[in-house]
Amino acid sequence: MPARILDGNKIANEIRAELAAEVKAMTAAGMRPGLAVILVGNNPASEIYVRGKVKSCEELDIYSEKHTPPDTSTTEELLDLVQDLNQRDEIDGILVQLPLPPQVDSKKVLMAVDPAKDVDGFHPVNVGFLSTQRPGLVPCTPAGIIEILKRSGIAIAGHEAVVVGRSDIVGKPTAMLLINGNATVTVCHSKTRDLPGVCRRADILVAAIGRAGMITRDFVKPGASVIDVGMNKITERSEFDKCFGGNERREQVFTSKGSTLIGDVHPEVAEVAGAITPVPGGVGPLTIAMLMVNTVRAARLRRGTPTPEMSRV
Ligand code: NAP
Repeated sequence: MPARILDGNKIANEIRAELAAEVKAMTAAGMRPGLAVILVGNNPASEIYVRGKVKSCEELDIYSEKHTPPDTSTTEELLDLVQDLNQRDEIDGILVQLPLPPQVDSKKVLMAVDPAKDVDGFHPVNVGFLSTQRPGLVPCTPAGIIEILKRSGIAIAGHEAVVVGRSDIVGKPTAMLLINGNATVTVCHSKTRDLPGVCRRADILVAAIGRAGMITRDFVKPGASVIDVGMNKITERSEFDKCFGGNERREQVFTSKGSTLIGDVHPEVAEVAGAITPVPGGVGPLTIAMLMVNTVRAARLRRGTPTPEMSRV
């Protein structure tokens, strides 16, 4: 039986509807959440991401402002901007869109963001809160993965979870959230021996690798829930045929655009998995939704009005 498709757009819409009501109540109480986005230079992909984030704020009536310093900005200039935003009370969240230009010390800029406004959840203070199960701000994509699992009724506690990838922004925080959810967690990376064998132990398999279609059916225990974080663009015909040969809908996209998106999981996995996130339309939509959640969360935590749910990590 083909896997159940875990529809990220549907889940993200549910979250947005809940948030809209919360933002309305907060605004009525004089606590309208606010997000500042810093977009340095003219990276086309970053411009698209930032546009999506600002639009999402507008849809939820979250206050937002966009700062667009030039490509030639120095570390000091960006630090001044971050300090200014740190001090403004109406700004609850500060997002520095990566990558920054090469002359800028990105780590220094990210470290300068007030941890209470660090809606990306990358600051070491928030990393520490996550690993010690204290309320803080959790990276958006990992938080979105947990929302997909919970809202799809997939049990975490007591189950075997395998995360392939150990990046600071996806793999490690996802593993930590799964540990906090009482899963038994294994983290794999490029030096892992017998990767297919380790992955086959998973009831929940998370692929955050950045390699098109690498996770094939041999990596998956029948019935497992598979979360595909990867976003890879295929442009080679041979690679396309290997992953999507015979798929008419994808063929149309590939022929007209000369490329198509694929995750880290090969489409054949849908024949063995119990549930799977599609690419696109799986984890991706949750990332922006969780940024909105974090902005509202930051507003509440900063003002000392957390909801009961916020004490759980
Ligand atoms: P990353 O920083 O490049 O990390 C990739 C991880 O995969 C590393 O830990 C690496 O191991 C591991 N890896 C690479 N090749 C491997 C192999 N052959 N076998 C086993 N492990 C291997 O990437 P990332 O930032 O975590 O992103 C991962 C993917 O998720 C990318 O496709 C990215 O575009 C996507 N992504 C999607 C969203 C979304 O919203 N959907 C958000 C963020 C990222 P080592 O540590 O040993 O090098």
